[in-house]
Amino acid sequence: MKKHNFSAGPCILPQEVLKKAADAVLNFNGIDLSLIEISHRSKEFVNVMENARGLVKELLSLPDGYSVLFLQGGASLEFLMTAYNLLKIDGKAAYLDTGAWAAKSIKEAKLLGEIDVIASSKDKTYNYIPKNYTIPADANYVHCTSNNTIYGTQIKEFPKTNSLLVCDMSSDIFSRQIDFAQFDLIYAGAQKNMGPAGTTLVIVKDEILGKTGRTIPSMLDYQVHISKDSMFNTPPVFPIYVSMLTLEWMKELGGIAAIEKMNEEKAAILYAEIDRNPHFKGFAVKEDRSLMNVTFNLTNEDDKEAFDKLWNAAGISGIKGHRSVGGYRASIYNAMPIESIKVLVETMQKLEKQFS
Ligand SMILES: *Cc1c(COP(=O)(O)O)cnc(C)c1O
Repeated sequence: MKKHNFSAGPCILPQEVLKKAADAVLNFNGIDLSLIEISHRSKEFVNVMENARGLVKELLSLPDGYSVLFLQGGASLEFLMTAYNLLKIDGKAAYLDTGAWAAKSIKEAKLLGEIDVIASSKDKTYNYIPKNYTIPADANYVHCTSNNTIYGTQIKEFPKTNSLLVCDMSSDIFSRQIDFAQFDLIYAGAQKNMGPAGTTLVIVKDEILGKTGRTIPSMLDYQVHISKDSMFNTPPVFPIYVSMLTLEWMKELGGIAAIEKMNEEKAAILYAEIDRNPHFKGFAVKEDRSLMNVTFNLTNEDDKEAFDKLWNAAGISGIKGHRSVGGYRASIYNAMPIESIKVLVETMQKLEKQFS
């Protein structure tokens, strides 16, 4: 039996996507060649790239004027690339510090210029989203992280600004309906809601590029990748193909509206149990709770051995909290079936019964 996989990333993908991906590695679309041994410039692979790009635009309802790229280097390289491409020489950018990933994006951007950290929730181990902050009028862009994977917090109201708005959506893209056109640049490592590790989705408004006055190394220049349709060098063909399959799966489910409904339902079941069961308490403040990463702790650390035994026996995997937070983290991305969440809830109830 497959385990109930609550891994934070790389994470669960739909079973049918894994099956199709396995088939394509052996024989891609019946051409008697493997997907991973054909030219990325072949008609077959160019079709994959175009299909993936089109599905991203369709699922996110992006208006004209945006380019969709599949790059390498993970979201971590985007921490640097966004600054390279948007931070003017002698310019300044504003950052929201809502977690360890946000802090890393700040560290990289500081290599290139002045970074104004306009708000931080570090004082409380990032268990909330700061709300009252002032954005300097002269910021070239504002950078935020939509979902803080480690702490289980999620931005519900994005910064209102006349500057460019940049967002790291690695762990909640395609999970909820937001107005994606409010952003000028979105990036996301594939391995949390879209595909296997190895490609990074970048969505960028064309008109914002080429205005920094910097010389940008080719591999870090969005305009270079746009002009070559993400094929400036050999693209990561397998992660892009599996991402395409996952995007098709999302479309068949009914798109983001349908997915959001399922995600809300799944998260509600788990949070309800955390709030009801006296053996557990939530980590993130309620109003900022994430629909993707549910963080919680035992009320009594002495229960740890008993609970760990129970969830292991139930076939649950990947719920250990991040080392900086402790406790537990159940990552319940799009592909997580509601049945697995019910198994986790039953396991939490078993702990309660054991001690009553
Ligand atoms: C996982 C994660 C990253 C890092 O992604 P890589 O692709 O490993 O570089 C960045 N930001 C957020 C919000 C993440 O969850």
